[in-house]
Amino acid sequence: MGTTEVFPRQEKTKHKTITTTIKLQTHTTNRKEEHMHHETTDGRSVLVALRSLIPDRPTDFTEAKQIAELQANRLLALFNVTEGAVSSEIVASLPRVRVIYVDLPSAVSGTSHWDKRHWVIALNKNDAPVRQRFTLMHEFKHIIDHGRTHLLYVSNSRYTAAEQAERAADHFAGAILMPKRLLKSAWASGLQTSSALARYFNVSIIAAEVRLSQTRLNAARDIVTKPLNNASHALHCRPSLAEGFLL
Ligand SMILES: [Zn+2]
Repeated sequence: MGTTEVFPRQEKTKHKTITTTIKLQTHTTNRKEEHMHHETTDGRSVLVALRSLIPDRPTDFTEAKQIAELQANRLLALFNVTEGAVSSEIVASLPRVRVIYVDLPSAVSGTSHWDKRHWVIALNKNDAPVRQRFTLMHEFKHIIDHGRTHLLYVSNSRYTAAEQAERAADHFAGAILMPKRLLKSAWASGLQTSSALARYFNVSIIAAEVRLSQTRLNAARDIVTKPLNNASHALHCRPSLAEGFLL
């Protein structure tokens, strides 16, 4: 099908540049960085900080999701985020990240690859802004994981390693856009419907419902939702948002 032909070149580039990435991370400086005082404004340091939370040993999927949650919290702490809606800029403004909006097949929300200077995150320009925010964070998690997926995601009887990587990216996106702590305080302040929370956090209603389900905040309530169609999941990347319902 047409969509599968769009990405092989990018995939190849992504894999080919692993060693280049590491080299750049070690040796390159740029003018911007000379003026940086804080880790939060140095994209490479942020990536190093987030990658340092990945243990140097294989993890199971439960732990991989906990790591995604930890990484989200670390990123929020680095940027002193204390209220919603969380700005996409905490990722989009990183010096080594470039975000572009392109015409992608409707089954594809975004892609990411290293272009030898930056991590380029391409978002489907036809998607709703809430979807684009979610995809941005989803793709950023793939970038954090780059080179470490073999440790984080090991195929089991339920999910392949690739499926786990996609679900962990969804989990990270939910955790960064709806941090548990902020979600709890929003809930305590009276925002107790998925639509009110979605508006507050600038996410889709289904993303809010998945996050509510993950955090068990709505345990006393009975929110009925349907998992999204997962058929296109093999394409890179259509966040499924279905994790909360499949666990
Ligand atoms: Zn993905």
